[in-house]
Amino acid sequence: MINIFKASLTEKKQLTADVFLFSFDLINPDKIEFEAGQYLILKVNNQPRLYSIFSSEENKKSVQLLVKIIPDGVASTYLTNLKSGDQVEFQGPAGAFKLQQNRRDKIFLATFTGLAPLYSMITSCLKMEKKLTQPKLYLFWGLRHFSDICLLDELKQLSINNQQFKFFICLSRETDLSKIKDENKKYFKLGRINDVWQKFNSQLIKQCSNVTMKQFINNFDYYLCASRDVVESLKQYLIEKGIAKENIFSEKF
Ligand SMILES: Cc1cc2nc3c(=O)[nH]c(=O)nc-3n(C[C@H](O)[C@H](O)[C@H](O)COP(=O)(O)OP(=O)(O)OC[C@H]3O[C@@H](n4cnc5c(N)ncnc54)[C@H](O)[C@@H]3O)c2cc1C
Repeated sequence: MINIFKASLTEKKQLTADVFLFSFDLINPDKIEFEAGQYLILKVNNQPRLYSIFSSEENKKSVQLLVKIIPDGVASTYLTNLKSGDQVEFQGPAGAFKLQQNRRDKIFLATFTGLAPLYSMITSCLKMEKKLTQPKLYLFWGLRHFSDICLLDELKQLSINNQQFKFFICLSRETDLSKIKDENKKYFKLGRINDVWQKFNSQLIKQCSNVTMKQFINNFDYYLCASRDVVESLKQYLIEKGIAKENIFSEKF
């Protein structure tokens, strides 16, 4: 059910030059029930702006949003000017981008703040009661430059605590990883997320016998989130590789 929520800003954390993580406590109602992948609607001067919930669905009393600040953008300016304790109004939760109720292994492909709904899906999935067959979760997160890198410690911690989760930050505009600390190099790849994903398949399939690449890649569900153009071209790419449309789920910003 879509509700109107009053919420109060508790933290505004600048992660890179143009990306902020906003944390809000819910005031009235003071709890939210949502499914990982859904978004909230922020109304600024009566103009709606949609923001995917970054935090896990287990967190019911607060929400976090991962926002790229667009210079002079209506909501960007409004959010940037918020101070701790300021109140905002959200509508929601809304949206049909949700985890499928199955135990299939999952590939998450995102660029920039497209990480938000996927991060919520991943943390929600990992917090679910441990079952015998935990699905494997692989995140390929596309950024351009070293200066775009953020949330590395959070992702590392998730992957250290949960063996079934692995992630790769894919830098499309860097030519080497010399600026990355040796201990972190294993989390980084050069290139676009689709190319990194493809190389990764070629390595993983070696561990399986009597499986064609098409069969192998259709063992996963695919969750994509990025700008409209990027999602369209990623979807096309996956379909051309032989992935069935019904295994692909996406959200366009
Ligand atoms: C389902 C959904 C979920 C979304 N979730 C998130 C989220 O989690 N985090 C997030 O940061 N955004 C998210 N967005 C995008 C968000 O709703 C806004 O569109 C964005 O924050 C810009 O709003 P604004 O009012 O600041 O800029 P506007 O005032 O709307 O735009 C100002 C100018 O910037 C251009 N512009 C708008 N967006 C971009 C962009 N991304 N890059 C470059 N130029 C742009 C516009 O064309 C316009 O010319 C989501 C969108 C959708 C549809």
